[in-house]
Amino acid sequence: MKYYSTNGKAPLATLEKAVVKGLAEDKGLYMPERIKPLPKVFFDEIQNMTLQEIAFHVADCFFGEDVDAESLHRIVYDTLSFDIPLVKVSPPKGGQGVFALELFHGPTLAFKDVGARFMARLLQYFVNGKSSNGKCVNVLVATSGDTGSAVANGFLGVEGIHVYVLYPKGKVSPIQECQFTTLGQNITAIEVDGVFDDCQALVKSAFMDVELNARMQLTSANSINVARFLPQSFYYFWAYAQLKKQQMANGQMVNGKLVCCVPSGNFGNICSALFGKRMGLPISRFIAANNANDIFYKYLQTGQYNPKPSVQTIANAMDVGDPSNYARILDLYGKSHKAICRDISGATYSDEQIAETMRQCLAETGYQLDPHGACGYRALQEGLREGEVGFFLETAHPAKFKQVVDDICGKDVAIPERLQAFTKGTKQSIPMSKDFDSLKAFLKAQTH
Ligand SMILES: *Cc1c(COP(=O)(O)O)cnc(C)c1O
Repeated sequence: MKYYSTNGKAPLATLEKAVVKGLAEDKGLYMPERIKPLPKVFFDEIQNMTLQEIAFHVADCFFGEDVDAESLHRIVYDTLSFDIPLVKVSPPKGGQGVFALELFHGPTLAFKDVGARFMARLLQYFVNGKSSNGKCVNVLVATSGDTGSAVANGFLGVEGIHVYVLYPKGKVSPIQECQFTTLGQNITAIEVDGVFDDCQALVKSAFMDVELNARMQLTSANSINVARFLPQSFYYFWAYAQLKKQQMANGQMVNGKLVCCVPSGNFGNICSALFGKRMGLPISRFIAANNANDIFYKYLQTGQYNPKPSVQTIANAMDVGDPSNYARILDLYGKSHKAICRDISGATYSDEQIAETMRQCLAETGYQLDPHGACGYRALQEGLREGEVGFFLETAHPAKFKQVVDDICGKDVAIPERLQAFTKGTKQSIPMSKDFDSLKAFLKAQTH
């Protein structure tokens, strides 16, 4: 399968190139040339399959031409070594049901684990293959918290790949910090004396530095990478299979009335769901739930896309002022605002509304939302019509945002053992100034 750029000015790329480079030469995002529909028999049988079996069929459509079946099987099964439960969250009245798809049972308790793990294993497949002549690949990632922990844990122990996580000193929560500074092995944490934007600028400078790139193979692991975003479509097929199983047991069918609501920041997650629909997944419509960063919401209302600097909210993994996957959604719908609006509607919530939703949901249903999932829950509750069934994505464990959740809900949310384990490790990080020369000198001295 070849990959084209959404900007249309770069040559077609192989999967290997798309994964190793991330972004096309013309700064566009890579898109697969074809989206293969899954056969009817797959949807007839889906409710009897395991998460891994479903994911393998979906992955085969995307990657089957470029990765041999045995390796792809191993990559999928290695990636999905944890549960993704679909939980009924019952509001007191109305509607047939609202379900939460809990994507937080992976190593760092957030949905980015799946994409990061899959990418790590696919990159390893290419690195250990013929073309890389045994050279180590160095992944540079700038983080304000969540991405760094998912990427570091996804790549931990993967041979032939070294990861450098750049994060702003004193600007990430202690629990996030220990998720990437205590790992050791092939993960190096770099504590930058600056803010997140300085970290991002350092990474960009490194990618553009000719001398550094001649010396070492550098790549990024951000969410624009096809290997991180396409595997996210697994969730939606899995959720459908679970709903179908339940509904068959109840003698009702969900087809034609299924709504999916995705708390969105860079729109990678919802974009992978739209790919799922193209492959035949019977979800009738989508809701993109935003926090106060409402650029996409405004686009749906007006047809005008006006990116602006992000504003800080309590659902901070969605604080994005220029969602990168907007380009993919536009491309998928032939740039038609009308076609996009047929499939997707939007919602936007202030911090006060998010807090109110968390308290209300807890009181009425007993379900503890995190601030991101709260946007999804509320948008689905408000948007679901008579006769429809819906699920929203609960993208992070409430304990990941313990301070906020405890303050709002007056609780002491228990920290799962997995998260607790990180806090027991020893912090190891390299202090770094925000000027590029120090980072360059440091990287040049590395022997990977
Ligand atoms: C990254 C993230 C999101 C947003 O996902 P996108 O794919 O960027 O839209 C939502 N919730 C949490 C907890 C996240 O970490």
